Amino acid sequence: MGNVFTSNLGYPRIGANREWKKTLEAFWAGDVKEEDFLQTMKEIRLGNLRTQVEKGVDLIPVGDFTFYDHVLDMATTFGWVPDRYKHEDGKISLATYFAMARGNKDAVASEMTKWFNTNYHYIVPEYEKGKVYTVTENKALLAYREAKQELGINGKPVIVGPYTFVSLAKGYKEEEFATVLEEVVPLYIQLLQELVAEGVEWVQVDEPSLVCSFSPEHVELVKDVYKRISETVPNIKVLLQTYFDSVEYYEEIVSLPVAGIGLDFVHGKEENVNALKKYGFPKEKVLAVGVIDGRNIWRANIHGVLGLVEEIQGLVEPKAVIIQPSSSLLHVPVQKQNENRLNKDVFNALAFAEEKLAEVTLVKDALLYGKEKQADVLNEGKEALETLIQSATIASVQDAIANVKEADFARALSFEKRFELQRDFFKLPLLPTTTIGSFPQTKEVRYARQQWRKGEWSQEKYDLFVEEETKRWIDIQEELDLDVLVHGEFERTDMVEYFGEKLAGFTFTQFAWVQSYGSRCVKPPIIYGDVDFIVPMTVKESKYAQSLTTRPVKGMLTGPVTILNWSFVRSDISRQEVTYQIALALRKEIEALEEAGIRMIQVDEPALREGLPLKVGNWDHYLTWAVNAFKLSTSSVAPETQIHTHMCYSNFDDIIDAIEALDADVISIEASRSHGEFIHSLKERPYVKGLGLGVYDIHSPRVPAIEEMKAVIDDALEVCHPTKFWVNPDCGLKTRKEEETVASLRRMVEAAKNARKVV
Ligand code: GLN
Ligand code: ZN
Repeated sequence: MGNVFTSNLGYPRIGANREWKKTLEAFWAGDVKEEDFLQTMKEIRLGNLRTQVEKGVDLIPVGDFTFYDHVLDMATTFGWVPDRYKHEDGKISLATYFAMARGNKDAVASEMTKWFNTNYHYIVPEYEKGKVYTVTENKALLAYREAKQELGINGKPVIVGPYTFVSLAKGYKEEEFATVLEEVVPLYIQLLQELVAEGVEWVQVDEPSLVCSFSPEHVELVKDVYKRISETVPNIKVLLQTYFDSVEYYEEIVSLPVAGIGLDFVHGKEENVNALKKYGFPKEKVLAVGVIDGRNIWRANIHGVLGLVEEIQGLVEPKAVIIQPSSSLLHVPVQKQNENRLNKDVFNALAFAEEKLAEVTLVKDALLYGKEKQADVLNEGKEALETLIQSATIASVQDAIANVKEADFARALSFEKRFELQRDFFKLPLLPTTTIGSFPQTKEVRYARQQWRKGEWSQEKYDLFVEEETKRWIDIQEELDLDVLVHGEFERTDMVEYFGEKLAGFTFTQFAWVQSYGSRCVKPPIIYGDVDFIVPMTVKESKYAQSLTTRPVKGMLTGPVTILNWSFVRSDISRQEVTYQIALALRKEIEALEEAGIRMIQVDEPALREGLPLKVGNWDHYLTWAVNAFKLSTSSVAPETQIHTHMCYSNFDDIIDAIEALDADVISIEASRSHGEFIHSLKERPYVKGLGLGVYDIHSPRVPAIEEMKAVIDDALEVCHPTKFWVNPDCGLKTRKEEETVASLRRMVEAAKNARKVV
């Protein structure tokens, strides 16, 4: 291989037609035998490899493919299986593997949380002190062997590095970090030794945790780990890969005894370039430059990229330069070629995984053979982006943003005053019960929507169906004796897509799915231009639901920050500006709901936290505008109108000030899957506004016992005032079956009633 070559960090697993998801779900449902499941998965895996060969990738990742999650793969590779799964010794069975991911009838699933600042979720490895861990099965090795045997590819195994693996794990105290790391290092060494013995040349060791803020003591640990690896496995070429931001402690990290360093020159570009300027780069190492954005879907300005690579080459003289995407392509859709319904300007400006790999190759070729050869092709991306932006600007939106005033961000009365007014207005019982918004999206619901989208069902027929489903669930909720009802979100496939479809500035693809967690894929909307309110989005459904009952029905919207964070966003203006545009559009929707008699309105912001920058130093800036965006959308309502918000699956203790600053009257938060950690943090830092801690995990089909939920309520009441505490599930129920939903909610209401008797 020459002095410049191409590589990829990871490829989407899901397949261009989500065949991966379908196979998984069929297997879980028992419709596919294990043997056939394994065979289909293999075909998908090999297909992905073939595509990467075709696109000109020199160094092809293997082992990045998974049956659920790559972090879970590392955990099971090392036998990190919590005792509650009562697993067998040695190789971990598929049943155990999926039990860790999804729970089973005897044991709850492992915690799941966001992968850095992305919308991908990984299974949190659980450390259990005193257990002896061993390598159960070297998955990276198997993947390497398969690629070699089947396709003759000399792949680059990808593993999650030791520092990142331990950083992402739980079950130990901060001061035990070094001990846990110490325990996994021999396992990594064994794994790498086996790879060398197999003939592996390069291995990509992902250490994205090295871009987050961490202490100087940890730098010493990292140094020690890589020193030991290089001493015991000298013949493997470790490509230490960082991404999502600039690396912290650059000088130390690039001096580690590894063969190559991968840096992100898209996210954290300036800092990484500055570090190269200031500290240089070791001549004996390979520098992998992430120059094609692995996180967005826009074509690259290839001239800009070439300029950047040339600048880097002018600053430092590494042994070789690897051109690659900035991160794994896991975060982008597979291919754009079948998107035949998109507006031409949008289509032309897009690049998904396949197209990005072609760009990577284009960059390499231009570097090796000169820019003149393909001068036109090199200009195309930039021109396509400029054309798109020009066609998607809306003057009135620009004006509205320019005229936003301080007062637009604040409600008229303080929380305390609103609390009293709302108490008298709604007259709810203590510990009111509610749900988070969605009810099961059954086969029938999905079928109806499909028929309607295909034009087989008329608008009237579809509307009638949604109404009937809504009515059926209003009745169920009344029968269950829930206090605050929801309409059930039957008209929505997805909480962001639904809104995007009704706002200006958004567009939708047919196939651009990306994995969110496990088999769950999302098809993020694309914000390609200025965002504007066109028509009311939720008024009809909420109003109808409210007409059926005397109990309050909560309106249900997705918040501006979540819409932003779960969309692919234009890259020519700041994220803050895009979010304010969305906020102004939602403000109109909220006003319309209130006008229609909906006096409780929930504005979901589950993705508030995931937008946090990886470096703590950048948090304030983000949180300030994110909180402001929420307030900009919610603060124009009357004091009696109760604003709810909802967030899920994350640690909130470190942003609790920001959460309170949202000034929502009630927030519902996940608390059952992180096993009460949040409750604990509230002891130190009480929360004074309305709060509903999820009392059961909705990501599992398990119907929890009344006592279990009562225990969460009791714990919560130690830190929350009973007049401000709400009882609800963790999250929306759309992925659950009707039967288990009704059973669980029945017990939840019972648990709340039991708790009421004693407060
Ligand atoms: N209201 C949404 C629902 O119930 C919230 C989903 C979420 O928080 N992710 O589905
Ligand atoms: Zn949620």
